Formats: sequence, C-alpha cells, structure tokens
Amino acid sequence: MADEVFFSMQDIDKDYYMAGEAVHILKKITLSIEEGEYLSVLGPSGSGKSTLMNIIGCLDTPTAGRYVLRGREVDEMDEAELARLRSREIGFIFQNSQLLPRLDARKNVELPLIYAGVPPRERRRRAEAMLERVGLADRMDHLPTQLSGGQQQRVAVARALVGNPSLLLADEPTGALDQKTGAQIMELFRELNDEHRTIIMITHDMHIAAHAHRIVRIIDGEILEGGEARDA
Ligand code: ADP
Ligand code: MG
Repeated sequence: MADEVFFSMQDIDKDYYMAGEAVHILKKITLSIEEGEYLSVLGPSGSGKSTLMNIIGCLDTPTAGRYVLRGREVDEMDEAELARLRSREIGFIFQNSQLLPRLDARKNVELPLIYAGVPPRERRRRAEAMLERVGLADRMDHLPTQLSGGQQQRVAVARALVGNPSLLLADEPTGALDQKTGAQIMELFRELNDEHRTIIMITHDMHIAAHAHRIVRIIDGEILEGGEARDA
C-alpha cells in the first residue's frame, strides 16, 4: 500500500514586520510528510519551530510559498474551510497544555466537540473514552490545578485526539514535564503512530526527537536536512 502525501510545503517564507522592517523568520522551508509518518522537527529556541507549527496547522499564513494539505492549496481556502479543516483534521498540543482552569478534565476534553456541534451525551461518551485511553479514568472530575503536570498534558493529548484528527501536531509536548512523565507521553505517541496516526512533534531536545521515525532539523528559520518525505 503506497502511503499518500499528507501535506507538502515548498519555499515557505514567513516574515514579521517590526517597526516597519521585515524580519525573516522562516526561509524557503520545503517539507513534506506522508500519512502515517511520525516526524520530529528539531531545533533550538528561537529557530522558528512554533512559527512553522502555526503554518502547518493553518493557524497562521505564510508570507510566500506553496502549501498543499491533503491535495488542496491552503492559500485558496476561505476562513470557514480553514476552521473546518483545523477542527476535523488537526489535533493541537501546546507546550503548557493550555487547559481551561475552570473546567474539569472531562469538560476540557469535550471542548473541541462542542465547537464541532456534537450532542452532549455523545460528547461525554467520547471524552470519557479518550481520558481512559490516556490513563485518566479516575481523574475525569478533577480541575487542572488538581492534576500533576504530566496528567494535565495527558488531558491535553486527549483533547487533541477526541475529534479523531488525522494529524497530531505537538509543540514541545514534554517541555514542561519531568523525564518519567515525558517518557509516558512518548509511549502514548508511539502507540498512536502504531495506529497509523500522522504525528509531527516539535522539540529542542534531541533525545525526545529520537522517538520519531524521521527528524528534520531547523536552525535560524531554515531546514537543514530531512525535508523530503522518505520515498520522495
Ligand atoms: P521557536 O518555537 O523555535 O522557539 P518561534 O517560532 O517561536 O521559535 O520564533 C522564531 C523567531 O520569530 C524568534 O526570533 C521570535 O522572536 C520571532 N517571532 C515569533 N513570533 C513573532 C511575532 N509575532 N512578531 C515578531 N517576531 C516574532
Ligand atoms: Mg516554540
């Protein structure tokens, strides 16, 4: 079975304007990934990883270049299509889990389903199943402050996955965790990838990056190596 290209980007630039001057943050990024791949983007702080993640996740638009996601030019989609794509296809995990502090674990995980218009009973069922999946069956009623850092990040993983996205996009998912808890999250990612889910994990830590099957290095906004998909 030939794997399909999930996305490809070519010569992507991202500039920010500071006091009227363009600052080049991403420079001619060429990167493609196949469905089912587990890719890590490895680079030091300030190298442009989060900027790249936001473009991959259609949260931000490039200044120049071509981005084709599942066969469609992202440039040509309107805001409604982009919002639909983000909510159906992409699960986001951010460094500091970014849970809503007043909602318990179950409600935090239900959130994307609320936006997607899933009815309450179905929402609850799916959120609970996903929390069980990440080992938090006995923590569903806990508020984020009543959970450890690792448990909070597992809630964030559950929230990212509850909509059954085809791509899991994780920005420094273990950045705020101790080593043991980080290892648990890596184990979970491996299982998810074994189930053929496409994963992009962004990190500054080469030991974390080594869990992926392919590593792309980014320094100062440029991809150094590994930008082409395996068989491309
Ligand atoms: P990383 O995630 O690898 O640490 P970022 O993508 O967050 O790097 O940032 C890359 C560079 O872009 C940094 O030098 C940062 O200061 C700059 N940058 C990020 N966001 C903005 C912005 N909104 N305006 C101006 N500069 C920005
Ligand atoms: Mg970052």
